[in-house]
This record gives sequence, structure tokens and C-alpha cells, in this order.
Amino acid sequence: MSVAPDTVLGGPTLPQERRLVTALPGPRTQELQARKAAAVSSGVGVTMPIYAAAAGGGVVVDVDGNSLIDLGSGIAVTTVGNADPAVAAAVADQAARFTHTCFMISGYEGYVEVAERLNRLTPGDHPKRTALFNSGAEAVENAIKIARIATKKQAVVAFDHAYHGRTNLTMGLTAKSMPYKSGFGPFAGEIYRAPMSYPYRDGGLSGAEAARAALLQIEKQVGANNLAAIIIEPIQGEGGFIVPALGFLPELAAWCKANDVVFIADEIQTGFARTGAMFACEHEGVVPDLITTAKGIAGGLPLAAVTGRADLMDAPHAGGLGGTYGGNPVACAAAVAALDAFEHGGLIERAQQIGEIALARLNAAKQADPRIGEVRGRGAMIAIEIVDPTTGDPDAQLTGAVAKAAHAQGVIVLTCGTYGNIIRLLPPLSIPDHLLTEGLDVLLDALARN
Ligand SMILES: *Cc1c(COP(=O)(O)O)cnc(C)c1O
Repeated sequence: MSVAPDTVLGGPTLPQERRLVTALPGPRTQELQARKAAAVSSGVGVTMPIYAAAAGGGVVVDVDGNSLIDLGSGIAVTTVGNADPAVAAAVADQAARFTHTCFMISGYEGYVEVAERLNRLTPGDHPKRTALFNSGAEAVENAIKIARIATKKQAVVAFDHAYHGRTNLTMGLTAKSMPYKSGFGPFAGEIYRAPMSYPYRDGGLSGAEAARAALLQIEKQVGANNLAAIIIEPIQGEGGFIVPALGFLPELAAWCKANDVVFIADEIQTGFARTGAMFACEHEGVVPDLITTAKGIAGGLPLAAVTGRADLMDAPHAGGLGGTYGGNPVACAAAVAALDAFEHGGLIERAQQIGEIALARLNAAKQADPRIGEVRGRGAMIAIEIVDPTTGDPDAQLTGAVAKAAHAQGVIVLTCGTYGNIIRLLPPLSIPDHLLTEGLDVLLDALARN
């Protein structure tokens, strides 16, 4: 029985099934695509051939009544599940009380509550403070501002394959030119790039060896006495789900500590149970000086944070940090509900289970298909790197074709990577096993047919 999409509410009670009732895009999506082309900047792309009507559990239902398996979570955002009932209720309740005062004008408890929880949940038991913002890029910009004013130094090091956002400062930190930077310069100064540990493509350097190479370059080309901060994603997201060799992150963090350099972990994609730990830094016991979070923090509402050492966070002058909407009360209410689920809802264990299921299935496929060069990731952040089996070169064309074929069969998967040859899986942690397995089957079938 199909229900008119207009009347369908989202959340986990949506039928948990892949169901295609039209070819994709369906007729109502096609109408919206035409309106989009006439009304929306073509600089804003849409990956999937659907327009959403409802979502929850492990599915996104489109305006034509198609139900697709969600292996993307809107780029690692709906980690607790889309339209999660507790998040939706918290949003409705807060929206009915007040939607905005500007925290810098009239304070409210939700903002303070989110800060207290982030201070407690992030790695390390030292005194911490938090400031809230609207987007990941804004959090990264503010982390750099804080590091600069606290150290009285200016240079910042980011890594090959890094992604930190699309604003001017964060474009400078982001590595990949197309589509993020090309034509949008000039970029901010005093940003330097260091080599990343990328075991599949750096000849298998150990973490210590890769860290030594990066730190030698940093010492020679920048100098610790000029360097305010190193910023790094503990597992790189847009750059290709690159998991650095064990030891790389701890070596960098130790060097920063010894040299009065702020170690910033950008956990915007990896944070909040995604990798099978509350934060990815925890896998190696790394305690960052500052940590940036966003994406999964508020179950789909826009919110971001910088959390870290109180002495650094309190370095800016009063009024030096802020913004009109930063820490919006509705987003904070959503975050409190989502953080409850991360802490008490068994989501860390669920991410680990999802990782075990996906890694087993994908590693078995790799044995049979040498075009899968590597399977990697942690928890519910898993990727395959697609290569030409004879040369080992990245095969972006095949990667795109496989993703497109999976989309046509009703599975939302995303690609990424500097070379465009990574298929990444970021399912909501609310996905039931049968949809995860079916989604992997469809993906691997799409690979086999291409
Ligand atoms: C998405 C992302 C950002 C930027 O976040 P926005 O909310 O899109 O500005 C920054 N860093 C990482 C690691 C990300 O994945």
C-alpha cells in the first residue's frame, strides 16, 4: 500500500524498505529539477535524482513515493537517524517557546547545556570551554582565530587531501582545487601544506615515518616559532576516507605540545559515534588542544562548535567571538536530544556493528575483484578505493559509473577523494541490518556490472 508522499511523516516508523515505483528521477522530481534549474544557482549541485519528502530509519522517501536506502546520512549529518522522534520533539518544543534571541544579546540555557556536554564528552579531562557556531567551516575559522590569538603566532599547517570547508580561510586549508577552490581565489595567507599519512599510496610508511617526514617539512618550511596551529582530520573525509597509519596522529600531537603549537582535530565528519568511538581521536588516545565539531551534532539542525583547553578558549577578548545565529536555541535543543542518544542510546556500539558488517562484505568482494584497491575506515565510516587493477591508478570514471548505477537502483551512496575514486559509506546509525546488507549488495552488483 502506498501513501501519498505529502502525508508521509519521517522518522523510524517509515516502512524500512527499498521500493522503486518510478524510474529515477520520477515525474514530480523532474518538475522540481526544472524549477531548480530556473531558480537556483547552478553552482549548487544535487547528486541524487530525487527530491525528498520524508526520511527516517535507513530510508529517504522521495516526492514520487520511491523509498531509497540511505548510505549517506546527508554527508554524515543524520547519524542519530533522520527526523529522529526525540530530536523532532525537542525542535518543536523549543520553536514554540522562542526561536532566537541572539546568545550575545539574551542568553539561554540550551547553549550553556550544549557547551557543558561537549566539554565533558570530548577527549581529555582538563578544564575546557566551548563556543558555538552555525557551520563546520565557521567552527574551523574560529579555531584558527583562537589558536592565533592564544599563541601570538600566525602560520597554520593543513595536510594533503584535507577538507575544512568552503569559506575563504577554509578554502585555503582545503587541499582539492576542483570543485572547492578553482577560480575562487585569492586565498588567505600563512597557510602551509604538509604530507599526509596515506598508507595505500605512500608506500606504506609507518605512522612514525610519515610523521617524521611531515614534521621535518614543517620545521624547515615554516618553523615552530611561526606556527600557531596544525589542523587535521583524524580520518580524512572528503579527501578519501584516509585513515593515517597508527602513530601518525600521536606523533603530531606530541610535537605540537613540545613546541607551543595548537593541535586542532577537525572532527566535523568523524565526531559523535560515527567511527565507533565518540570521537575518532580516541582510537589512539590523542587529546587535541581544540576540537571542531558540526555535522552529526544536532540530528540535522545546523550547529557547530569549537571545544578545547580553557586557557586557549579564553584567550580572545570579550566580544571577539560570536555571530548572529551561532548556537541558535532550536539547534541547541536538537543537539541536547541528539547528544542524549549518542551517550545513552548504544550508538557507539551500533557504529561498530555496522563497520563489522560492511568491512566483512567489502573485504570479501575485494578478494574477488582487484578493482577494489583498498577497503578502509572505522565504524560507520567505510570506503572502497577503486583502481585500475594493472596500474593501481585511481579510476574516477568507474567510480562515478558505479555510484550512478547504485543511485538508479535506489541506494544513496556518495563518492569522494582527491582523485574522485572513493565510494564512501556513511549510513545513519538507525539503519536496520537488512537495509545495510541490501544496500551493500546493490553497490557491489553495480560494480560487478560496470
Ligand atoms: C563538512 C566538513 C567541514 C565543513 O563543514 P560545513 O558545515 O559544510 O561548513 C569541515 N571539516 C570537515 C572535516 C568536514 O567534513
